[in-house]
Amino acid sequence: MNNAVHLRAQTFGVPAPIKRVATRSSSRQLALPFDEPVWDAPGLEGMLTRIVARPVRLTLTENRSVLLSYRCDTQGIALRLHRMFLHASESVLAALGRHLRRRSRRADGELRRFMNENLHRVRTLPRTLPPLVPSGRVYDLARVFESLNGRFFGGQMKVPITWGRGCGRARRGGLTFGSYDPVLRLIRIHPVLDRNDVPLYFLESVVYHEMLHHHLGGVPDRAGRTVYHSRAFREAERRYPAHAQALSWEKANLTHLLRASHALERARRDGACASRA
Ligand SMILES: [Zn+2]
Repeated sequence: MNNAVHLRAQTFGVPAPIKRVATRSSSRQLALPFDEPVWDAPGLEGMLTRIVARPVRLTLTENRSVLLSYRCDTQGIALRLHRMFLHASESVLAALGRHLRRRSRRADGELRRFMNENLHRVRTLPRTLPPLVPSGRVYDLARVFESLNGRFFGGQMKVPITWGRGCGRARRGGLTFGSYDPVLRLIRIHPVLDRNDVPLYFLESVVYHEMLHHHLGGVPDRAGRTVYHSRAFREAERRYPAHAQALSWEKANLTHLLRASHALERARRDGACASRA
């Protein structure tokens, strides 16, 4: 994201956790028919410039995962905000100012609350399930899922599952092996796990983790942030018998898997595995 090293980039993202709140609060939107924005873009930019006492260059976005990001440079602050901030009260903008000046931890809580309460403004685009590809070269995810479903969830869970396209971002030298999208109610598994040298218990531990996300949902903490990996979640996770074994396998094989995922990505770019796209 950051293309110049001397720039300080900050993002305030709202990843998957809060999507769940969005679905719940979407009914609230209907109760507010006269919900006009408080600001226009120049008004908001001017207000923020006054609050932080530095020039703010504001870009409004419709981004669905990063609601707030900024970088400071010699000219001031380049700030990207979701359009929901056109509805922000002055006290929320003051909290935003404190966040930008990195003065206050409490401001972050206030900002998160505002973003949580306004998520119905984010998810306006209809989202549809992508084509599902559960059977891979080595593993059939539908079978893996059904086996776990029977053993741990009484066979009651109904969630689509698919191999992802492998374009999930690598983070901190790690890999996102699986994800659960609470809006689509979809589990995606990274195709790098569809290999002979990946033991079934490792794949199962990843799928089980994502099934738990569907099963347990999120719990709000005191700052208004939704916590997914709660204590209850971690306890449930340990019920998978090979949990510890899976963790140490991951540790021993991460470098290898990262390399494999880069190869997959290259192949995908070259169109070599277009059948999976
Ligand atoms: Zn997780």
